[in-house]
Amino acid sequence: MKWSWKLGRFAGIDVRVHATFLILLAWVAIASYQLRGTVRDAVDGVVFILAVFASVIFHEYGHALTARHFGIPTKEITLLPIGGVAQLERIPKEPQRELAIALAGPAVTVAIVVLLYLVLVATGLPTGPQVLLREGAPLLSRLMWVNVLLALFNAIPAFPMDGGRVLRAALATRMPHVRATRIAAEVGKGFALIFGIIGLFVTGDPWLVLIALFVWLGAAGEASMAQQNSAFEGIRVDHVMIRDMRTLAPDDPLSRAVDEVLAGFQQDFPVVQNGEVVGVLTRNDLMKALAAHGPASRVGDAMDRAFAVTSPDEELEDAFARLRSCRCRTLPVVRGRELVGVLTTENVGEFMMIQSAMRAGEV
Ligand SMILES: [Zn+2]
Repeated sequence: MKWSWKLGRFAGIDVRVHATFLILLAWVAIASYQLRGTVRDAVDGVVFILAVFASVIFHEYGHALTARHFGIPTKEITLLPIGGVAQLERIPKEPQRELAIALAGPAVTVAIVVLLYLVLVATGLPTGPQVLLREGAPLLSRLMWVNVLLALFNAIPAFPMDGGRVLRAALATRMPHVRATRIAAEVGKGFALIFGIIGLFVTGDPWLVLIALFVWLGAAGEASMAQQNSAFEGIRVDHVMIRDMRTLAPDDPLSRAVDEVLAGFQQDFPVVQNGEVVGVLTRNDLMKALAAHGPASRVGDAMDRAFAVTSPDEELEDAFARLRSCRCRTLPVVRGRELVGVLTTENVGEFMMIQSAMRAGEV
């Protein structure tokens, strides 16, 4: 996500914090300070928010680790002012799996509530909901109630809340995935409108208006992502890949790659030895190697040997997900061991453009 910084990496997943979250911290510190004018209040306010977001991180790991259980990696977890987002590499096509992933987050939140409740009872701290409104109530009591609200908020059956995923998974057992997504997204926009109207005209609460905005954007984002994936539905790599491409051999000098780039054929090249792909030379690698070792050095020394591949029969949606997550622009397409084509972000982009142009033509 843009405008975000890495906090750390836990269980193999980057946790990032969005710039707007820091604005929230500053706002809470100032608001708490103004309340009674002591630095202690400001610190308390910030510690409380950090504790809330630690709960959110646990919630997101609930989603991410369940997804991993189904073989779906998570790119990163980002903290936003209204909560967290675990960016899964793809959404499982099986509705039961989507359901399990969607429920795992709230399950963690409920577990946190139960745990905090037991601690509160054991230590004799207040457990009633009035702690949310009382100044100076114990941090753990407030933390428990915020987690209760978090669980309730996520139970709303609309995108981008977890309840929306549950709704989509339920709908997807009876209708195509895209239509299920569109319905869950429309419901999300409906809730956003209601939150916005209440925030603007009834309670005058800027916080609710901000939540409405995030819910609206999240719902719209889900709908457009599903639309994009539907352009891929039923289409295999074979249909889109570039068949007419240049390849290099490991023993070729880099100057040959330079000639090919200047001739305008390609930017990235599969490197083939005895009919088998052994590496990929990207334009980036080429430039680095040229600067370090000159045009006479070998392609084999500059190429990337740890590269992802796809096959002509793979579904385009899955191949494209891999293309996006490998931070590369080219996937060699292999049948058995033989190179039959390449799939690039540019040619998938062109394919999508053509698809949408043709759809616009169907009135
Ligand atoms: Zn969640």
